Amino acid sequence: MSEPILVVTALDSYYEDFQALYKVSLTLNEGEVVAIIGANGAGKTTLLRSIVGLIKSKSEQVKYRGQAIGSLRADQIAATGIAMVPEGRQLFPSLTVEENLLIGGRIKRAGPWSLDAIYELFPVLSERRKQASTSLSGGQQQMVAIGRALMSNPSVILFDEISLGLAPVIIKNIYEALPGIVQDGMTAVIVEQDITKALSVSSRVYCLQEGRVSLQGNSSSVSREDISRAYFGIS
Ligand code: ATP
Repeated sequence: MSEPILVVTALDSYYEDFQALYKVSLTLNEGEVVAIIGANGAGKTTLLRSIVGLIKSKSEQVKYRGQAIGSLRADQIAATGIAMVPEGRQLFPSLTVEENLLIGGRIKRAGPWSLDAIYELFPVLSERRKQASTSLSGGQQQMVAIGRALMSNPSVILFDEISLGLAPVIIKNIYEALPGIVQDGMTAVIVEQDITKALSVSSRVYCLQEGRVSLQGNSSSVSREDISRAYFGIS
């Protein structure tokens, strides 16, 4: 088997004195979709923010293609090929749809994604390209956030709470777009509240509980009992 594309090793993360992650380890193999589940406050967002450098780690705690990146700045990590679709979209409200997408494209990496490719994936964004991003529905804003991340042609894409607060039809839409997004070997991490959905789209799953990995396994073989125990701490 080839070397994993991303390895997180014994990661501790802090918000000042508060420790949010305890010795979290995670491996991503190239081309797979991995789900991260866990209750509110379990540390899922903190893990993603640590990977993309928004929270500093020790250099060796995060390795990308064998290179220690834990102490790099967020922009340097983005340039290596890791992008995040943040929880709550976090678009630039004063900019149009297209301007928001172009911001992602400022990181110049070769790959299949361009404005045209994003508009093909989400045609509604093409119709609204000149509109302020704030005039869009929540689901459409999520599409902009996904498009903005794709515009950097990442090798690894991290989706935080991919379907939170979206209408079921939009969630379906976004999940239908997923195979096209992970095409050509792109590797994806999905943080998802809907456990059934998380398991159905991923090959492997990690569960976090109070900042620790409480379960990891193949999505097709973990049992509901294992997940309940890992998620809620019920033994
Ligand atoms: P959610 O599903 O609610 O987003 P999560 O699993 O993503 O939860 P995190 O947001 O990573 O969890 O939070 C992990 C822990 O860190 C929680 O106890 C949370 O209160 C704390 N935390 C998160 N952000 C901050 C912050 N900016 N300052 C201090 N503590 C924080």
